[in-house]
Amino acid sequence: IVGHALQECLQEPVALAEGVLHAQASIGLALSPEHGETRGDLLCAADAAMYVAKRAGSSVALHSPAGEGRHRRRLEVAEDLFMALEREELVLAYQPIRTPADLGLVAAEALLRWNHPESGLVLPARFIPTLEETGQIVQVGDWVLRAACRQNRAWQDAGLAPMRVSVNVSTRQFQSETLLQSVQSALEESGLDPVWLELELTESQLLVDTEAAIEVLAQLNALGVAISIDDFGSGYSSLNYLKRLPIDCLKIDQGFVRDLGSSAKDGAIVEAIAAVARSLNLGLVAEGVETAGQARFLRRLYCTEMQGYFYSRPVAAEVLPEIIAALDAKIPA
Ligand code: C2E
Ligand code: MG
Ligand code: MG
Repeated sequence: IVGHALQECLQEPVALAEGVLHAQASIGLALSPEHGETRGDLLCAADAAMYVAKRAGSSVALHSPAGEGRHRRRLEVAEDLFMALEREELVLAYQPIRTPADLGLVAAEALLRWNHPESGLVLPARFIPTLEETGQIVQVGDWVLRAACRQNRAWQDAGLAPMRVSVNVSTRQFQSETLLQSVQSALEESGLDPVWLELELTESQLLVDTEAAIEVLAQLNALGVAISIDDFGSGYSSLNYLKRLPIDCLKIDQGFVRDLGSSAKDGAIVEAIAAVARSLNLGLVAEGVETAGQARFLRRLYCTEMQGYFYSRPVAAEVLPEIIAALDAKIPA
């Protein structure tokens, strides 16, 4: 009861000179003597409960042994991840994105992988949430930007036709003050022309504080970097922000692409998104294209670029040039 009362108080908007601040609180509770007898033990127990509350989305949680176990495992993962950076176990895979016409490859997306000494190649869903929680994502995101720019420049230097490489930007990274600096140094260090770099953001990231987002996007835009909205249609989809934000491209959420052909509704939604992109003069990428049927449907729409297992899974940087060379054969009738 105390926890919820506190939370209500903290939810009251706070008036600041620059505007109104809406804060949310996650509260972890621990009881003495059940959860610890010293001040330190109690704080530790409350801290673990706070992470449980955070996971549940700004709630209140009482300490429990199960929650403690989960918290401890997450801390272990966080520790491991810290070492991963040191030991250079993080790698980028690249997935080609192609145009439906005969224009060849236009782009690739950089996707993070963790080459774990015991578990093998670990996918981002398993460790990005922890990186977000601990804040390590800012450092890792910085590494991803540098590595992707360096690789893209290396492909160009090796004589490959220049292509845009997109990099996913996490929420914490987008909100951190170092993003702009990080993008700038990645470009400078690699010598990559900014037109070949694209940043992927999600709708929810842009809606947290739209005014601040517009400012950051304008600065990135000024650098000459392209911006796309990832998983478009899966978030809050406020169409209002589309006309206000300086963005270049929409990436249709995989969920709509999956049932193309079998669900008339998904077909209609994809067509509507394509119409929005066309009228706002935005690029359009369909993600998760797995079959020739889906590719055929999308080909009929305005300038859809396509990405999915039908063309290629994400692959190691060394093999991407081969995959690109083989892509031209993959044009569905
Ligand atoms: P995303 O940015 O939407 O990336 C697309 C995901 O869909 C990738 O999963 C990709 O492997 C998968 N995919 C591509 N084609 C197909 C297909 O035809 N069918 C199916 N079922 N899936 C397909 P992945 O690599 O596991 O990444 C998952 C998510 O993790 C990404 O979603 C992105 O949100 C995040 N992520 C990946 N790399 C990074 C990174 O460097 N930084 C940050 N902040 N997030 C990242
Ligand atoms: Mg993405
Ligand atoms: Mg996506």
